[in-house]
This record gives sequence, C-alpha cells and structure tokens, in this order.
Amino acid sequence: MLFSGTRATGVEVVRDGGGTEVIEARHVILSAGAVSSPAILMRSGIGPAADLRRLGIEVLLDRPGVGATVIDHPRTGVFMVPKAGTFNPEDAFLQTIVRTTAPGSSEFNDLQYYMINHFDLSLFPELQMLAAAKTIFGVMVVHQRPESRGRLTLTSADPGTPPDIDLNFLATERDVRTLVDAVRTCWQLMQTAGIQDRGERFIVLGDEMLEDDEIMGHYVRLSLDSGYHPVGTARMGAEDDEGAVVDERLRVYGAEGLYICDASVMPSIVNCNTNLTSIMIGERLADWFTRS
Ligand SMILES: Cc1cc2nc3c(=O)[nH]c(=O)nc-3n(C[C@H](O)[C@H](O)[C@H](O)COP(=O)(O)OP(=O)(O)OC[C@H]3O[C@@H](n4cnc5c(N)ncnc54)[C@H](O)[C@@H]3O)c2cc1C
Repeated sequence: MLFSGTRATGVEVVRDGGGTEVIEARHVILSAGAVSSPAILMRSGIGPAADLRRLGIEVLLDRPGVGATVIDHPRTGVFMVPKAGTFNPEDAFLQTIVRTTAPGSSEFNDLQYYMINHFDLSLFPELQMLAAAKTIFGVMVVHQRPESRGRLTLTSADPGTPPDIDLNFLATERDVRTLVDAVRTCWQLMQTAGIQDRGERFIVLGDEMLEDDEIMGHYVRLSLDSGYHPVGTARMGAEDDEGAVVDERLRVYGAEGLYICDASVMPSIVNCNTNLTSIMIGERLADWFTRS
C-alpha cells in the first residue's frame, strides 16, 4: 500500500506477466482475508514496530494488534474405515449438521457435530498411513467458541513468503475438556445401528480408551484439525484498546482513507461458520460507502 504521511493514497500491485503497477485512490479497502490482510498491513509498515524493524520494514504506524490474535474453530471426531460397498462417492460427503450447547457451557450452540458420509484421504498421506485406508467416514465435532488464541507473524518482508500462523489450539484446560467430552459424544453417535454397521474398524480410538481423560486428551491433540475459519488478525475495538486495529466503521486507527473489510476484523469468533459473517462485513462497508 502507498501512503502520503499516514494517508493511504493507493496500492502497488504485481502484474500477472511481471512488473508492477501503481493504482492511486482516495480510499483503500484491504480485503485479502484473515491471513493476507495482516501480512499486507505489516509489509506496508503497519503492525508491531519491533517485529517490523526486525524484518527491515520501515514503521509507518506501531499497531501491536496486527496479527496478535488468531481465532479459529478446532475440530476432531471419531472415524471408521468403511466396509466395501457401503458408500457412494457420488453422494454429498456431508448432509447432516447438529448445533448444540456443550453440557455446563454458558456459550450458546458452542458445538457443531456433523456426519461425514465418506472422506477421501488422498490429500492427507499421514492420515492415510494412520488409517491404513484411502477413505474414512465418521462423526466430527467443531468447537465454535474456543478460549485459545493464536498469533500470526511475518517471517519476511518478501510478499512471496507466507506468514507464520500459530493457531495455538487447546491452550486452555477448558478447550481440551470440551473436545474430550465431545469426542465421547461422537463415539456414542457412532455406536448407532446403521452407522457402526457400515464400518470395518475404528481408527486409533477404542472402547478401552474412552474413560481415560489423559489418553483422550492425547487423542484429541493427535486428531485435531482447523475448521479453516481464521478471524481476528486485525480486530475491531475501541480507540483506547491497544490491540484494536480498526474502529466501528472498519477504519484503520491512525491511517486516513484505509479500511479493512474481511474476517480479520472480527473481535471474537462467531458460533457458526464464518463465510456469511464475512460477506455481511463487506455488505456493511459497501452500504456505508454508497450512502455517503
Ligand atoms: C477449505 C475451506 C473451507 C471452508 N468452508 C466454509 C464453509 O463451508 N462455510 C463457511 O461459512 N465458511 C467456510 N470457510 C471459511 C470462509 O471461506 C471464510 O471465513 C471467508 O471466505 C472469509 O472471507 P474473507 O473475505 O475474509 O476472505 P477470503 O474469502 O479469503 O477473500 C480474500 C481474497 O483476497 C485474495 N487475496 C489474498 N491475498 C491477496 C493479494 N496479496 N493480492 C490480491 N488478492 C489477494 C484471495 O485470493 C481471496 O480472493 C472455509 C474456508 C476454507 C479455507
């Protein structure tokens, strides 16, 4: 991004065929997603000053909140290797989702269970080795309101180098406990006639492990994956909040004419999948612009 003092004046883009082009503008709306938006901000000199200086980036605005928080939905589940002929790969792999509140939780609908009819492991060679199978099925659970917070850091000023993302899942005891209990529920659901009958064998998990909290904690860590819903890397907050990056109108604090308009600005994670909320953030800014 280009600035005159702290006013955003445009962007410099890399053209497909090579070379760069400068596009001047009165307003710059950064909407590159929760991974790329903070990375572009930092490469443009807006972020934690010490980190930027370490990478040789000239500091325009010291905003410690850029990349300081990453929130995502962790997920795990209970899986089986299907018996031959029990699934049709042409069928949708996912058709049923149940949203519910974990026992004792004060967070409404903080769990999402879903039935995976079949899942192709071609892209996951390590899981293929573990399962000794190419396809699995099962019941998955996603924790929609985790306490754990991760961090996104720039490792190079070069735009071709991706940032480092530490999701830091299961950093709190509550997050571990919630998923351990939820995996026990997945196990119960898998016992249902019509589900278990379709399976040849369970993957990793067995009856004898279910009561042991420590072993179940290991299982959750081993089987954990991201829901691919990162948010919060340039979060909205009040002016006196040091970690806030944008105000209630998506304007970057300290930089005139610069807006962030994507999942980065969410101050906490929604208890549902994040696409619709991201679209609504875009609609909201578009609405403000067309009315002004
Ligand atoms: C595999 C996967 C599955 C998902 N499934 C679901 C789902 O089922 N339901 C749901 O609600 N959510 C789902 N999500 C999450 C959802 O896609 C995101 O929350 C949502 O797209 C976020 O919107 P965004 O505008 O913040 O970012 P994005 O949709 O990521 O948009 C950012 C855009 O910026 C572009 N961009 C990035 N860097 C640059 C650059 N340097 N120059 C130019 N352009 C750039 C990207 O190409 C992209 O088009 C899924 C995500 C993934 C990865």
